[in-house]
Amino acid sequence: MHEVSLAGGILQVVEQTRARDPFERVTHLRLQAGALAGVELSALRFALESLAPGTLLDGALIDIDEQPGTAWCMLCSRSVPIFTRLDLCPLCEGAQLQPTGGTDLKVVDMRVV
Ligand SMILES: [Zn+2]
Repeated sequence: MHEVSLAGGILQVVEQTRARDPFERVTHLRLQAGALAGVELSALRFALESLAPGTLLDGALIDIDEQPGTAWCMLCSRSVPIFTRLDLCPLCEGAQLQPTGGTDLKVVDMRVV
């Protein structure tokens, strides 16, 4: 369950944001999770909801947008969509793919009071 540590990392980002720009709590948090980030969205949501009470995220609405994965195919010399890191190129079925998009989990927006 590395989603628990990811949720802790998200809370840290929120706390660091407050250190720069004070607010009372978060009302709405929007995250973006890449298809290749290795994040189980329902587990992440559960981890955030478990962590929230008593923190800045207490009562916050949490939206998680999924970002599709993309990779650069060395053989086709173009960017192609993939769904997991184990996928082959959909055009040439080659395995020489370098993931270029949808590889991370990040906070994209937050509304605060
Ligand atoms: Zn290819």
